[in-house]
Amino acid sequence: MFKKTTSVHFINAEGNGNRIMVIPTFVLLYWKKFIFVIGGVLSVLLLVLGVFIYQKTSEIYKEELHRANYIKSKIDMQKLQESFQSINQSMLKINGFMQERGLQKFSMKNVGGEEGFDIQDVNEVSSFYVGYIKEIENAITNVPLGKPHHGEITSHFGTRENPFSGGGAETHSGMDFRGNTGDPVKSTAHGKVSFAGVKGGYGNCVIIDHGYNLQTLYGHFSQIKVKAGQEVQSGEVIGAVGSTGRSTGPHLHYEVHFKGERINPELYLNFK
Ligand SMILES: [Zn+2]
Repeated sequence: MFKKTTSVHFINAEGNGNRIMVIPTFVLLYWKKFIFVIGGVLSVLLLVLGVFIYQKTSEIYKEELHRANYIKSKIDMQKLQESFQSINQSMLKINGFMQERGLQKFSMKNVGGEEGFDIQDVNEVSSFYVGYIKEIENAITNVPLGKPHHGEITSHFGTRENPFSGGGAETHSGMDFRGNTGDPVKSTAHGKVSFAGVKGGYGNCVIIDHGYNLQTLYGHFSQIKVKAGQEVQSGEVIGAVGSTGRSTGPHLHYEVHFKGERINPELYLNFK
């Protein structure tokens, strides 16, 4: 039907014209219908495209919704709140223990106990606990725990027979560990060396300040391996077993001071 053509000669107002356009005669005769059909086809194409885009978008939306619901199902708010309350209870207990032992108590508000919280609160509560646990961690690393030396305990804290005169009784200000000269002696907590040198009957002596009103003292060293003012970690070697000062043979004399008073170091040897 497009085989028959009609030539259209374009002529301007001056009567000149050199443009000739060849159009199928069919189009010239039925141009309205022709435009209508093309318009129709375009409309259908647009419609199909629109439906396609709509479907794709709603698919993505559905997926997002599904994901959100999945996350929601994984977070059981009821359970979460119970867990937070349990953490809260433990922290209050730890605070109590610390106070009983005369240690500095942490300030804490009852964060986990709030009634019904949302996701944002969960983040807030979590970061509070992270900070709080960090504080406890710092306190624990500064409390002398365990043994400074692996040797056998040969003398306990308190009243004992005088090892020098063989008669009468004296108060032993710490505890003794049997050892060989040169054995490494370790700090029982993180702290700062407040004394390192010769100190009367203690001989070569190291005192470490752990903060929280706690100090440890180590005596009769053959060798001191730290300097006053130096920071030490728990388990760090601070000296070597010896028999300097008032001593009957190589051993370690160990003391724990709390608020300036000598206390029984055995209280700090284990968690009991
Ligand atoms: Zn001793």
